[in-house]
Amino acid sequence: MERKTSQRVAIENIFQRENRPLGVEEILKEGREIVESLNQATVYRNLKLLVEKGTLKPISHPVLGILYERTGRGHHHHFHCRICDRVFELPGCMLSETSAAPEGFVTEKHEVFLFGICPACGQQQ
Ligand SMILES: [Zn+2]
Ligand SMILES: [Zn+2]
Repeated sequence: MERKTSQRVAIENIFQRENRPLGVEEILKEGREIVESLNQATVYRNLKLLVEKGTLKPISHPVLGILYERTGRGHHHHFHCRICDRVFELPGCMLSETSAAPEGFVTEKHEVFLFGICPACGQQQ
């Protein structure tokens, strides 16, 4: 029981520290530095638990596949840096659903993924 809890807390801490959506591989890599016993099965099990708890939610990224992010931020868009491969949450939304689709289409939701170079990688160039 003790071990399971510490794995879950380790994963929660990674999300808190990184403050951006994370894939299973990233969580596994960072998590192993905190809890050596972490493996892919335990990461998946804990992610499922955190989704059920409402702490995390999965998002489907067009390039990276399923990522997980913390809930409670409202609607936002995502930016993928092609150099470091990290995904960031962007604040707010500038898209007007009513003017984005032609007349007759009823938009119920949208997702926006931006691609490019993040500030940290931009400085290194
Ligand atoms: Zn970057
Ligand atoms: Zn939006």
